[in-house]
Amino acid sequence: MNERSQFIGVNSIKFYEAFSTEEQCYQYLADVKWKDKSYHCRKCGHIKYYKGVKPFSRRCMKCKYDESPTAGTMFDKCKFSLHLAFHIAFKISTKKKGMSSLELSQEFELRQMTCWEFKWKIQQAMQSSKLHPINGIVHVDEFYIGGEEESKRGRSKGDKKLVIVALELVEGGVGRAYAQCISNASASSFRPFFETYISKDAKIITDEWKGYIPLKKDYPNLEQLKSENGKSFQDIHIHIMNLKGWLRGIHHHCSRERLQGYLDEYHFRYNRRSKMDTIFDSLINNMVNNNPIRLQSIN
Ligand SMILES: [Zn+2]
Repeated sequence: MNERSQFIGVNSIKFYEAFSTEEQCYQYLADVKWKDKSYHCRKCGHIKYYKGVKPFSRRCMKCKYDESPTAGTMFDKCKFSLHLAFHIAFKISTKKKGMSSLELSQEFELRQMTCWEFKWKIQQAMQSSKLHPINGIVHVDEFYIGGEEESKRGRSKGDKKLVIVALELVEGGVGRAYAQCISNASASSFRPFFETYISKDAKIITDEWKGYIPLKKDYPNLEQLKSENGKSFQDIHIHIMNLKGWLRGIHHHCSRERLQGYLDEYHFRYNRRSKMDTIFDSLINNMVNNNPIRLQSIN
């Protein structure tokens, strides 16, 4: 009974068949939300329920609260049908470059602002769980996006924003990657990123920028190498080039907060490139298990 059927694959036709009605989407959401007998009433915590009156809802036996599968998830109070929300989530997660709010508004005949707000929620759900720091070999570097391209290392100024990237090197290629928007290229700005994404035991390699030196105290395996015209850091430079290319294509002038959303979106797909079959299901799981977040600033 609790074995939920998980959608597998990136094929649009199969997706349309699996989610052709509003009911199929509600059923899927209910299965994700209450998998493994995890029901407990949102109001009183009671674990016994009977069928509610809303679609696929559960009614608490104690306090009678009728809880929809969407309650407390990122699908709560959505401005369009769950059916449409699932289709947008599928497109954004499975298309190689995702979709801009303009493309979404054209394809789904929604207002661009409505798509923009929903995409922001999706990007929140695409944030890393931060539970699996890189533990092997990792290259770290930074780059600027926006403003003057060829500028010296320093602070993010005006439209120019600084991003730090970590790329895991595995046998025969590259593994996971993470990126974060930071305010300047100093150790104190680097540190929270290191603490979140890189294990203390990892073998970290950076170029000879002085901002990394103070981190050696906490990261004894941090090594600084001469760039040798980029030869020492080919993989991370390719990663940064691809990331910058994608960012230039979709974002023009956006806040730091919004840029972080794009970085999270990019790496959510990137880190699942070998398990694309379950990427839609991962996204839906995250959207169910994260509370809706309001965007503070819109630009
Ligand atoms: Zn209750």
